[in-house]
Amino acid sequence: MTLSLKTRFLMATLLVTFFIFLYAVSTLKSQIVTSNLLRETLSKNLSTMRLASEIKHDFVLHDDLVFRFLATGDDTLLDESSRSREKIKITMSKLKMASESPTVRELLSELESESAGYFKDMQKLLATAPRGVVPDDKVSILKAISWAKQIPNQQKALEVISAKGKTKLNYIYSLCDKLVDLNRVRMEDVQKQIQAAVDQSQWSIQWGGLSIFVGIALIGLLLALSILTPLKELQSGIRRIMGGDLNFEIIPHSADEIGRITQAFNAMTRNLKEKQAQLLRETITDELTGLYNFRYFQEELKNETERARRYERHLSVLLIDIDHFKHYNDTHGHEMGNVVLKTTAQALRETLRPSDFLARYGGEEFVAFLTDTDKTQGQRVAERVREAIDACQFPGEEKQPGGKLTISLGGATFPENTKVAKDLVEKADKALYEAKHRGRNRVVWIS
Ligand code: GH3
Ligand code: MG
Ligand code: MG
Repeated sequence: MTLSLKTRFLMATLLVTFFIFLYAVSTLKSQIVTSNLLRETLSKNLSTMRLASEIKHDFVLHDDLVFRFLATGDDTLLDESSRSREKIKITMSKLKMASESPTVRELLSELESESAGYFKDMQKLLATAPRGVVPDDKVSILKAISWAKQIPNQQKALEVISAKGKTKLNYIYSLCDKLVDLNRVRMEDVQKQIQAAVDQSQWSIQWGGLSIFVGIALIGLLLALSILTPLKELQSGIRRIMGGDLNFEIIPHSADEIGRITQAFNAMTRNLKEKQAQLLRETITDELTGLYNFRYFQEELKNETERARRYERHLSVLLIDIDHFKHYNDTHGHEMGNVVLKTTAQALRETLRPSDFLARYGGEEFVAFLTDTDKTQGQRVAERVREAIDACQFPGEEKQPGGKLTISLGGATFPENTKVAKDLVEKADKALYEAKHRGRNRVVWIS
């Protein structure tokens, strides 16, 4: 199935638009994906880093609250330290939930168990510590001293807070620092990932653009070829026909507009060929009798005599003239005379061989070439022709001299009567004159 040029153009435009649209959408999509990845991973990592830093900060704050409470015995600080512990626990569990890295989660578990031990020791110490101690109040200070001295357990607890506790806390701090570092490393990984995504998207934009360009160029090329190839064939066909080869038909390769032009052109050429053939027929045919005309006779005379001369073949020429035709015309009118001319032409055609050439020579005169016919055969044919006309019934012929419409014939043969083939007609004419002279309705062969 061939698509029309209009449809092909429309399809090419749609295809190009579709590719450009696809390219724009995929480029935009990859940009969106990259920027989303950037935003999401950055915000996630920033928040885990913030949480990790917050844990360390809260440990420092908690330590400070504990020391201030131990120094002052201020109950509000105790409550505050308890809230701080809770906050640290919550932050740790938040960080655990937000972290995807197993290393971070492992570290967090260690931190949780370390801080649980530390908080337990702290709570033990704080439970036994004197409360309501204010630094300026002497009684309170004394109270604190006696607390420290009197209870050996508290002594132990103080040791925990001062030495062992300090070591534990330092270890916790180092865990927190590790946590922050780990998140920073992860952040660098994420940056590398983002860079890779940006590179990938740039690559696909460049190659996608190039592919679109090549695709559009290919579509254009195919479209141009599908139009130019049949056009070129049409053009060369037209050239050939214009060169005179009316038998040539251009083969239409498609059913599109060019195919239809080709078909129309072929129809026009066929029409032209028919017209030309008709014109040719008309130029060589006598309108009234349908025989060849004088002009064509002259051409044929040249060909026949030349052929006879070259191949040394017999050629007889017959000149046929209706007797007293003027009389017939005068008696019955020109129209009736025409009918006689037509009937005579018809009878001559039927009597001679199809291969013999017959033409209307002049008004009521006819000429025939009898190919490969010697004098004897020619005379026989001439006599047969004369008899045929004699036997014909013409309307009103009884009013002709002798009561019949007749013909006289003059003949000459190559090479018997003349060695010069082109003199044949002249010789036959002389014979015809002789036939008239001898009384008409007869055949005379030139001697
Ligand atoms: P002859 O026996 O000596 O040949 O006498 P003829 O009367 O036939 O010869 P002539 O040359 O005197 O006259 C020929 C006539 O043929 C004269 C002319 O009117 C007639 N004629 C010539 N052409 C046509 C034609 O096309 N139609 C008709 N109806 N008559 C024609
Ligand atoms: Mg005549
Ligand atoms: Mg005559």
